[in-house]
Amino acid sequence: MLVKPIRLKLIACVLATLPLYSAASEWSYSGHNSPDHWAGLDANGDYATCAKGTHQSPIDIPSTSATHVKAASASLSINYQRSPLDVVNNGHSIQANVTGDNSLQFQGKTYKLVQFHFHSPSEHLYSGKRFPMEMHWVNQASDGSLLVVAAMIKSGDKNTQLEHIWSKMLPQKKGAHVQLSQEQAPDLGKILPSSSKHFFYKGSLTTPPCTEGVQWVLFEKLLELSPDQISAFQSVFTGNNRPAEAINQREIDED
Ligand SMILES: [Zn+2]
Repeated sequence: MLVKPIRLKLIACVLATLPLYSAASEWSYSGHNSPDHWAGLDANGDYATCAKGTHQSPIDIPSTSATHVKAASASLSINYQRSPLDVVNNGHSIQANVTGDNSLQFQGKTYKLVQFHFHSPSEHLYSGKRFPMEMHWVNQASDGSLLVVAAMIKSGDKNTQLEHIWSKMLPQKKGAHVQLSQEQAPDLGKILPSSSKHFFYKGSLTTPPCTEGVQWVLFEKLLELSPDQISAFQSVFTGNNRPAEAINQREIDED
């Protein structure tokens, strides 16, 4: 006779404690879980940096105050190549998880390319100007530190390399994957402009948990996608950009 009430109590206890162990509320770019509310969405406070951080990304890169640091570009070397891709709609963007030997050297440190993804419109601004899209290449060093290469995208010629992904249908639904073999995938070494100046600054992830200590490398030369390619992406994601954050006392370098 005692078994039943005890079981009920146990179930009640488990239910009562569930919220403590549940994951953070799903963040988004609009409504109640928009960027202004990110810091409060995780009960454990793991997203606090989104509000309290002073070295956050993205930022509006001012043209006038950029400090010119010569030889900085000589310390940047990108070695990307054709690699198999797992393209996924993760609910926030279209992200291509990359395998293979794609590395980047910056200031004597080696990073490995983990994934790339897109935002529309751009997250960074150049002298107050926003672009239709922005591409982020997320690279990680063996000590865990992150370097994100960013390229702004304007409307122009069809991008024949990225067409390899676009033509395979951008995964429309959250959780949907498209696999691209090495032969089907774009040559990752041919997407970024071969010659470009860059902006360098220390910032953060632009999505929760907004972790700081991220090295940013921004290409000044723009990538181009055709109007059709841009609208194809925007039919899946539009408005997946975090607003610009305060620069505060940060130095922005330019080569
Ligand atoms: Zn991003």
